[in-house]
Amino acid sequence: MATTDRDGTEHEGLADVRTRIAGAAKAAGRAPDEVRLVAVSKTFGPEDILPVIEAGQRVFGENRVQEAAGKWPDLRDRFPDLELHLIGPLQTNKVREAVALFDCIESLDRPKLARVLAEEMAKQGRHPALFVQVNTGAEDQKAGVLPDEADAFIASCREEHGLTISGLMCIPPLDEEPSLHFALLEKIARRNGLSELSMGMSGDFETAIAFGATLVRVGTAIFGTR
Ligand SMILES: *Cc1c(COP(=O)(O)O)cnc(C)c1O
Repeated sequence: MATTDRDGTEHEGLADVRTRIAGAAKAAGRAPDEVRLVAVSKTFGPEDILPVIEAGQRVFGENRVQEAAGKWPDLRDRFPDLELHLIGPLQTNKVREAVALFDCIESLDRPKLARVLAEEMAKQGRHPALFVQVNTGAEDQKAGVLPDEADAFIASCREEHGLTISGLMCIPPLDEEPSLHFALLEKIARRNGLSELSMGMSGDFETAIAFGATLVRVGTAIFGTR
């Protein structure tokens, strides 16, 4: 896979992650282009992000609306084909800004948020792709719908709020084997007719690819430690 496909500059972290994605896809009998890389740029400024854009990366993830609103509008003006994903929790009072800024919201996880998103998307005529976040480890402190409640929540997003759900997202517990969580997310997606799976971070994206990830969200392995 080319690491210099657009602007001719190299970025070591990005090149390494791309090589590893391609290798993991191949090992799993999948085409490398079935796996999209979301470069997680939270806490990093434009001086760190720009070299990654210049090396050809176009999809980025941020976990806070406010932080993203501060740094992305300028970059978007310069690179109109950027795609921005919200991967952190979304409060309903930030929905207006989030719908205006993001191309994909990966953290839809409760009925009130579904309702407010549907209203705001209609109002703005902007329709970011939506992923339902599943709290596969049922951790108290973590966002996401519980696995047992996922089917009903997805159905209500579709039927009550008229939302199109693209896929599912999860963040496995830090101290557990991630593959069980990836397998669970895949199973919930399959029985709900969803084809996109956002799973896998710097420590486990190769495992996630083996379990069917179509998006991996990688920060540290590209940008360095935060
Ligand atoms: C920070 C973050 C990532 C990236 O984590 P790394 O370990 O730095 O790759 C992925 N997903 C979410 C939801 C995050 O908040």
